[in-house]
Amino acid sequence: MSKILIDIRNRVISCVNCSLSKSRTNAVPGIGNEKSDVIFVGEAPGRNEDLQGKPFVGTAGQILSEALEFAGFTRDQVYITNVVKCRPPNNRQPNTEERDACRSFLSEELKIIKPKIICILGNTAYSSLLDGNSITKNRGKLVKNNDQLYFVTVHPAAIIYNPALRQVLKDDFVLLAQTLDKLRKGLDVEISK
Ligand code: SF4
Repeated sequence: MSKILIDIRNRVISCVNCSLSKSRTNAVPGIGNEKSDVIFVGEAPGRNEDLQGKPFVGTAGQILSEALEFAGFTRDQVYITNVVKCRPPNNRQPNTEERDACRSFLSEELKIIKPKIICILGNTAYSSLLDGNSITKNRGKLVKNNDQLYFVTVHPAAIIYNPALRQVLKDDFVLLAQTLDKLRKGLDVEISK
């Protein structure tokens, strides 16, 4: 991991910029390959992530790993992070104040990694990154905003409550892998309007 990412990591771990610092067990910095062409962004850490200080390590993390492997990715090939780096109590959604307080960390991660595609996992990340209300219209699609490509899909935790989404996530990741492959080869990709 580069010095800059280690610096971000250390600042996340000791951050007290919002009230979530009072209720967390551990802050959860992003993790993975800083040379990745894709960065996966979820909402916020859950209980297991809070206990271990790592993103996507609970049941949702297993579902994410399974879907990544299905599409030919490994976790250490990619970079995984959240919009908000500390767990909101009782797994509630992070509020606007918390998202705003944490926003600069994700911006810094994106500036260093410069991914070809930001893969948005679920509604909260979609709302934070693209100001959208619901992923329904753009799920499984590529969206361009301010010269950055985004791929939109469901949050792995949604599959715990709706098992039918398991294959949806896997198929979306296959499409994401194919899209990345095209971009690497300089081929055209379909962008949703
Ligand atoms: S959620 Fe973000 S801004 Fe709030 S304390 Fe944690 S790292 Fe700091």
